[in-house]
Amino acid sequence: MSTQEPLRLGVDLGGSKIEVIALDGGGRELARRRVATPRGDYASTVRAVAGLVSGIEGELGRRGSVGIGIPGAVSPATGTIKNANSTWLIGRPFDRDVAAALHRPVRLANDANCFALSEAVDGAAAGADIVFGVILGTGVGGGIVVHGQPLPGHNAIAGEWGHNPLPWPRDDERPGPPCYCGREGCIETFLSGPGLARDHAAAGGSDRTAEAIAAEAAAGDAAARATLNRHLDRLGRALAHVVNLLDPDAIVLGGGLSNIDGLTQGWPERLSPYVFSDRVGTRVVRARYGDSSGVRGAAWLWSQDEAADALGTAGVGP
Ligand SMILES: [Zn+2]
Repeated sequence: MSTQEPLRLGVDLGGSKIEVIALDGGGRELARRRVATPRGDYASTVRAVAGLVSGIEGELGRRGSVGIGIPGAVSPATGTIKNANSTWLIGRPFDRDVAAALHRPVRLANDANCFALSEAVDGAAAGADIVFGVILGTGVGGGIVVHGQPLPGHNAIAGEWGHNPLPWPRDDERPGPPCYCGREGCIETFLSGPGLARDHAAAGGSDRTAEAIAAEAAAGDAAARATLNRHLDRLGRALAHVVNLLDPDAIVLGGGLSNIDGLTQGWPERLSPYVFSDRVGTRVVRARYGDSSGVRGAAWLWSQDEAADALGTAGVGP
C-alpha cells in the first residue's frame, strides 16, 4: 500500500461510547479506538471526536477523511442536528464544529444509513442495487442505500419507518402501546427489544428481556416460541410496507435482535401475503458486520477518490 493513500476514518457516536475506525482502500480495518461519550456536554463531545481522530492518525502516521454516524440527522431546514437521542447535540451545528476542530470537511449521516451503507458496500447486501437496512435494538430504525449511495431524503428522514404504525393490525394490536414520539402503535413499540419483552409479558409470559425470551424459545418453551412467532409475523407486515414502497433488492437486519435464531429464516415467504406482487424474491439477510456496521459505514461516506480530494483541498501542511 502506498503511504500516500489516505485513510478513511469512520466515527460512530453512540449514547454511551464514541468509536473510530480506520479503513484502508480495500475496506480492511487498520485500527479502532473508543472512548466513553461525554453525555450532556456538547463541547466535550466535539473535542472527544476530534481527539479520537487525531489520536488514530498519529498512531498510523497518516491523515484521513472523516465520516460520522449519529443517531439523528442534520436538519436541511436549519443545518443543525435533529432527532438525536443524544439530546445535547440537538440544535447544534455538530458536523461544522467537528470540521473546524479538525481543519477539514466532514460528512455526517444517520447511523442507520451508515449501517445500510456498510452492508451494501461489502457486507451482506454487497452488489445489491437498492438496500434497506433495519436496526432492531432498543429502538427500530431504517436506512436506504441506492446504487452505493445513502439516500437521506428531502427532510433527512428517508427510511425512518419505525414510527409508522404497525400495518394490517389485528384487533388486539389496536391502538397499540404508547410511543415516546407521542403516537400509539408505532412499529418500534412492537419490534424493538423492549417491545418484544412487553408483548411477551402482555401475553401472560414472565418478565424477561428479548434475549432471554429468544433463549427460552430456542430451548423449546412454548410461550416464548409463540412470542417470537408473533414478532416475526409483525416484522413481515412491517417489511411488506417497505417492499411495496421501495422494493429493495435486499433487506439487511441488524441490531441486537438480529442475532435471534430464526429471524432470518422463512423469508421471503413471510412477505408474500402482504406484498402486491405475484412473486416476492426479496432477500432478507442478517448483517455481516454486526455491531461494526455503523462505524464502517461512516468511513464509507467518502469514496477513496473523494477522500484524497478532501484532504488535498484542506491542505496537509500547517
Ligand atoms: Zn413512535
